[in-house]
Amino acid sequence: MYKQQNNQMEGIFVRGIEPNKDQKLSKVAEITRWREVSPLELKLTVLYEVAICEEKKIDLEKENSCPICFCELYDDLFKKNELDHQIEQQGLMIMQKNGDNPKQPDEGIIFVVKLGNCSGMHFFHKDCLENQFKAGGSDQFLKCSVCSHIYGKQIGGMPSGRMTWSTQRMTLPGFEKSQFAIVINYEIPSGTLPTGVRFNGTNRTAYLPDNKEGQEILCLFAEAFRRRLIFNVGTSITTGQQNQTVWGTIHHKTSPHGGTSHFGYPDPTYFSRVKDELAAKGLTVDLIGTEIKKEQSRQGRVEV
Ligand SMILES: [Zn+2]
Ligand SMILES: [Zn+2]
Repeated sequence: MYKQQNNQMEGIFVRGIEPNKDQKLSKVAEITRWREVSPLELKLTVLYEVAICEEKKIDLEKENSCPICFCELYDDLFKKNELDHQIEQQGLMIMQKNGDNPKQPDEGIIFVVKLGNCSGMHFFHKDCLENQFKAGGSDQFLKCSVCSHIYGKQIGGMPSGRMTWSTQRMTLPGFEKSQFAIVINYEIPSGTLPTGVRFNGTNRTAYLPDNKEGQEILCLFAEAFRRRLIFNVGTSITTGQQNQTVWGTIHHKTSPHGGTSHFGYPDPTYFSRVKDELAAKGLTVDLIGTEIKKEQSRQGRVEV
């Protein structure tokens, strides 16, 4: 059972009280843009979901559990009825009228938060989220444990290197309308990791069609490179050698032709797959022009 910080005030609907503006937002609050959710708001939200969702059976107890600690978000949320809430709310109002000063919510009542940009309504204990963030390897990002949405910027372990690209006259199979292709070169020199381990670098070439979607994916690749997410140092699957610079989880077309068996075109589902792989790292087309730089010239270069 999650420790209720103030049993006396349990379940009271606190409306219209702004979060304390002077209080410095913690880093995780800033990244996730979380919003505090009172017990009654949580209850009404879940009951509303149940009301509009006829086919799906919603388990109320499950909805009231924290995805990190699996305990109840607010104790006994669905054991109280609406009348209890009204009585408590009126009690609070009378106390305020009489000049008694009941505790404000920021003193411990509201400790459930909803994350800002998840694909669904994902509620967590504030403390659990804070601890998960502190325990994670980076203080720059948090991955929602329910929907995997990335908040903030994930920075990978790729060694330093250079990415360059240019538009060249070349028709890729499946994109016969365009006479041009974007040719990307990655150069990661051999070196030493911060842990002192020596690793072998790599030189790789990748191809994208020079159309709208190809240019969008190029912008996402360039940002992934800035965030050190394109390569890792690890064991090569092809040679079995350790401490090699190997591809990360974002797949590239390393051949202009030859189809999927040769890592080339045509491959009708490549764009949707690579966009999913990029989205899993927090890189999506809708962020181009805001959080992600729009690459507009026919050739470019990124160095990290
Ligand atoms: Zn929790
Ligand atoms: Zn989520």
